[in-house]
Amino acid sequence: MTALFDLTGKTALVTGSARGLGFAYAEGLAAAGARIILNDIRDTLLAESVETLVSKGYDAQGVAFDVTDEHAIEAAFDKLDAEGINVDILINNAGIQYRKPMVELELENWQKVIDTNLTSTFLVSRAAAKRMIARNNGGKIINIGSLTSQAARPTVAPYTAAKGGVKMLTCSMAAEWAQFNIQTNAIGPGYIQTDMNTALIEDQQFDNWVKSSNPSQRWGRPEELIGTAVFLSSKASDYINGQIIYVDGGWLAVL
Ligand code: NDP
Repeated sequence: MTALFDLTGKTALVTGSARGLGFAYAEGLAAAGARIILNDIRDTLLAESVETLVSKGYDAQGVAFDVTDEHAIEAAFDKLDAEGINVDILINNAGIQYRKPMVELELENWQKVIDTNLTSTFLVSRAAAKRMIARNNGGKIINIGSLTSQAARPTVAPYTAAKGGVKMLTCSMAAEWAQFNIQTNAIGPGYIQTDMNTALIEDQQFDNWVKSSNPSQRWGRPEELIGTAVFLSSKASDYINGQIIYVDGGWLAVL
């Protein structure tokens, strides 16, 4: 049974993984046997996170690039090619949130949120998938959606539009790449305790609302996302394609 989830011999690239959920996915995949390539936009934090994984005995390295920068992405993949490193598993995790009522929202911030959460998923997946197809050895792509892939909340319109787009982009990738034995699925995390949510966790009213609107009556923890990421990276999910799995404590079930 364990062999079904064994990632030994696989290389996984996780974007935006110097901290938060990305780091949790990376550590989980490393524990399942994968070689890890961490990515983030900030060099220093990335180096510290690589060091943390290496000090735990895992095979890890870092590659810094901005997931919205097409040329930087292509250059990073070219460099991996030159080093003989093939990405078998890609987790498109990098993302940002920006809260503002829509009537006050600036185009620049709308665009930044769409680019970082949605366009990045297309750009990094394109770079990974064309190499997976050329190698003819299959692959796994996991896109990170959100509760907002399914349900809207006020003041996060571009994030909601982007995460809704991630859900359908996941279906498009499955439609085009399933024939190459590439499975593309998504994870939709609920409200999870990470730096992205620090201000919301400290906001008593928001914290009460999260707890009272969720049947589990609490925020999720980053480590509670790992099992789904390992499952969708492994042989155990080889006939699952174009799906989004919500890991939300039941929030959507009672909406
Ligand atoms: P964090 O903000 O804690 O971590 C995100 C990481 O991504 C940061 O290290 C950040 O770097 C990096 N990043 C941001 N922009 C870029 C970029 N352009 N290129 C490369 N790296 C970048 O977020 P979470 O861990 O909470 O969230 C991770 C993912 O999960 C996101 O896609 C988010 O939308 C999604 N999600 C999170 C939920 C939650 O409750 N936490 C719920 C639903 C979905 P830096 O800080 O330097 O910008």
